[in-house]
Amino acid sequence: KLHNTILELKGNIRVFCRVRPLLADEDVSTEGKVISYPTSMDALGRGIDLVQPGQKHSFTFDKVFMPEISQEDVFEDISQLVQSALDGYKVCIFAYGQTGSGKTYTMMGKPGDQDQKGLVPRSLEQIFKTIQSLQPQGWKYEMQVSMLEIYNETIRDLLAPNRSSSDMLRENGIGGKQYTIKHDANGNTHVSDLTIVDVCTAKEVSYLLERAEHSRSVGKTQMNEQSSRSHFVFTLRISGVNESTEQQVQGVLNLIDLAGSERLSKSGSTGDRLKETQAINKSLSSLSDVIFALAKKEDHVPFRNSKLTYLLQPCLGGDSKTLMFVNISPEPSSAGESLCSLRFASRVN
Ligand code: ADP
Ligand code: MG
Repeated sequence: KLHNTILELKGNIRVFCRVRPLLADEDVSTEGKVISYPTSMDALGRGIDLVQPGQKHSFTFDKVFMPEISQEDVFEDISQLVQSALDGYKVCIFAYGQTGSGKTYTMMGKPGDQDQKGLVPRSLEQIFKTIQSLQPQGWKYEMQVSMLEIYNETIRDLLAPNRSSSDMLRENGIGGKQYTIKHDANGNTHVSDLTIVDVCTAKEVSYLLERAEHSRSVGKTQMNEQSSRSHFVFTLRISGVNESTEQQVQGVLNLIDLAGSERLSKSGSTGDRLKETQAINKSLSSLSDVIFALAKKEDHVPFRNSKLTYLLQPCLGGDSKTLMFVNISPEPSSAGESLCSLRFASRVN
């Protein structure tokens, strides 16, 4: 009951914290545990403590997933939210955290491992399954997918058939496609020149995801580790019509693997690296500002301060639903970054 009251007060923004397990090659010998879960005071599994020498920082979220919680169990807690995109809601699910904290694992899963697939493939399977089950009641759905990356405040189309020419020109500042973001009166977002693909099966989407991943990794060798320095935005637009009742629904599901949140020291970086760092800091703090303003129901919400928040504007405000995963690494050496992530997340929570 208490839990529900808190959710209502905050409106449509929820924060789930997920701690990944220690990996095989990580040092478990370091004295003391850094992350603990205050189970005695929190039967709902919502609390997490970060313990540093002489200090304990306690946080509460809508849910805390301990390292042993499986992908399947995590999905169980978000399947309703995913389902609401079919009911006509605009849904955003973000993964926030430092590089190596488990964002991509949470979103995509482990490549080639069915049991460990992440919430993107699970969401798609559920959506296509539900659509089939609604057919006998007269529902017909059309789906469209787009995938883009925001790097240094520049949009890259990950499904562009011919990335080599136009995007490259644009990225090097010599014309090319513009990817201008516009919102229409109905709350629909249009990104000029962005590739939009009609899809009918989950398999088609997984093929497109592979293609997008390939486009990203091509960039990775050109710009160091670009995939952790850029935001990945997967968008599924859903429009349904019931042929007997003439009811209509239009929903959107945005799944976003954010750039690594680690603080790169500004003093140590120069040139491109500095520009990159500033772009990431700017867009992540804009996201935090926007979610904070929405949660506080402030009159002015600074959507326009970054490409990411402007792109997602219709899917963050209004009666849309937002979930942020804050991913945490359990390594003692990551304690400083983990504390920053937990603070970030409790600000938006
Ligand atoms: P990020 O995308 O935040 O940089 P990754 O998702 O790539 O981090 O995770 C880093 C490593 O940890 C990967 O090898 C990934 O497979 C592993 N990992 C992350 N979360 C989990 C988890 N919950 N269970 C098992 N392995 C995980
Ligand atoms: Mg990643």
